[in-house]
Amino acid sequence: MEDTFKHQALRKKLVQHLKKSGIKDFKVLQAIEKIPRHFFFNSAFLQFAYDDVAFQIGEGQTISQPYTVARQSELLEVRKGDKILEIGTGSGYQASILSTLGAEVYSIERQKKLHDKAKIMLEKLNCNVKCFYGDGYIGLPEFAPFDRAIVTAAAPYIPEPLLQQLKPRGILVIPVGNETTQVMKKIRKIGDNEYDTKDYGNFSFVPMLGETT
Ligand code: SAH
Repeated sequence: MEDTFKHQALRKKLVQHLKKSGIKDFKVLQAIEKIPRHFFFNSAFLQFAYDDVAFQIGEGQTISQPYTVARQSELLEVRKGDKILEIGTGSGYQASILSTLGAEVYSIERQKKLHDKAKIMLEKLNCNVKCFYGDGYIGLPEFAPFDRAIVTAAAPYIPEPLLQQLKPRGILVIPVGNETTQVMKKIRKIGDNEYDTKDYGNFSFVPMLGETT
């Protein structure tokens, strides 16, 4: 796959659109301008890669809308060198953005096919992302603690292990709600079992899969 001038121009346009939509973090916008989002699409749908919409990536899953990726990345307050846990690798696009922000990303995906595909693309792009095939409800205790954690599927509740695996002052960004609408929550760990939670509007993600779904 190629990254042509046309793709680069479309990304510049997308970044302008994201700015107008309220994304302020310059580094996040820079990362979106840099990463070829169309690499994470099935080739038949390349022309949709720079529209601000979610899109099918197979297995009934979607690559998140660029605005959502930008907003979650901004809320995470990523610092260079941060160790980040991501739940829901999907296409790998969100992980590639976090890696471009200077983070070391640990990403879990529940579906083998998507895991395999994302891993290959992230390696090709030289992203600092370690991909794991497993259940995000459990997190990655063997690699904890993390500076940041991000969930990119709709969570019916906040999984306790993800909070436990955060460092002190660490941040979890997670959409919590039912299958149609979720509230984006930013949770900062301020003590051993103490958290500060703020809400950031409604979003719509594909549901997080449990043991039996
Ligand atoms: N971050 C992704 C968005 C993917 S959509 C991207 O940038 O493309 C959400 C993903 O979460 C799907 O791929 C889905 O298979 C995965 N998922 C759902 N439940 C999960 C779970 N319990 N653990 C890990 N991944 C899960």
